[in-house]
Amino acid sequence: MAYSAAVMFAGATIIDSVETAVPGGQTFSIAPGVGALVLVLALVTVGPRLPLPALAALGPLGVAGIAVALGTTSGATDGAILYSWPVLWEAYFFGKRGTVAIVLCVGVAHGLALSSMPEGAGNVDRWIDVMASVTVIGTVVEILAARNRRLLARISGEARVDGLTGLLNRRGFEERADVELARSHRERSPLAIACFDLDFFKRVNDEFGHDVGDRVLVHLAECFRHESREIDLVARMGGEEFVALLPGANAEEASGFADRVRHALQATSPAGAPRVTASAGVASAVAPEHLTEVIRAADMALYAAKAQGRNRTVLDRGWQTGFEPATAGTTSRSSTN
Ligand code: GH3
Ligand code: MG
Ligand code: MG
Repeated sequence: MAYSAAVMFAGATIIDSVETAVPGGQTFSIAPGVGALVLVLALVTVGPRLPLPALAALGPLGVAGIAVALGTTSGATDGAILYSWPVLWEAYFFGKRGTVAIVLCVGVAHGLALSSMPEGAGNVDRWIDVMASVTVIGTVVEILAARNRRLLARISGEARVDGLTGLLNRRGFEERADVELARSHRERSPLAIACFDLDFFKRVNDEFGHDVGDRVLVHLAECFRHESREIDLVARMGGEEFVALLPGANAEEASGFADRVRHALQATSPAGAPRVTASAGVASAVAPEHLTEVIRAADMALYAAKAQGRNRTVLDRGWQTGFEPATAGTTSRSSTN
């Protein structure tokens, strides 16, 4: 933003000196050109560190400089076109309010510039022409910039969502999970992780086809949506592996959640698809140092659930009390079906 403003003011400096140097050209006052040059140097050196209100003032400053240049120019000038620069810049970066403000600035500044010129030169007409032009330019640029922002927001949202199920993907999960981890530290509150993996899913694909397999994945996502709270994060981490982060939940509560999801999954099936089951592993901790520790513990519990025959939830207790989750202590409680 600051560098694009520097380009704009550098353009003004060049125009001011070229127009002054060209024989027969208009003779602008030197002051606006020098002012623009000072701004270029300031923007190049400290521009990116300037606060937003200071940057927002650059458009009106540019307008003031142009009005001074026009008001002090000898002879007729069509330099009013220069107002389009700050209008375009302000409308692009500062939205509707910035656009209205800069158009009003042009109205006042150009009015003052014209009033310093000789009467009878069609000044009112010139003012109206300029105002119509800058209003159109500002509005169009603001509309295009708003459209750009919406597209960017959509693309960055989509980059965090799994295309098939509409759940978070790994990247979306990791970003949001960081926020929940910080909350757990701040409030010394528990958070739980539940890892899920469909049982014998390869067979579903082999016997019914990949499309049917996809429908089963979408069905599982619906079960997650139905059983989770607004604050829970559920993500498809890849393939048919899913992770849920439950803020504030202890291991028992997370185990209840995992059972509800598994029961909902096997209670129905999408048209043409077989009923499937899932295994889950659950772990919980209060303000863990890294979330990966809790995920690893829940993953271990999931492996235990698979090893014990699938279609069950295994709750990790060993990790929280300092035991290695891969040991028998990991599977201190399991629920099937
Ligand atoms: P297990 O009970 O041990 O988990 O057996 P499994 O057959 O489910 O084994 P595994 O978890 O290794 O299977 C992964 C299968 O998931 C392999 C692949 O065919 C299937 N899969 C992965 N991603 C997709 C997907 O996007 N769509 C479909 N339809 N299938 C997928
Ligand atoms: Mg798997
Ligand atoms: Mg599987």
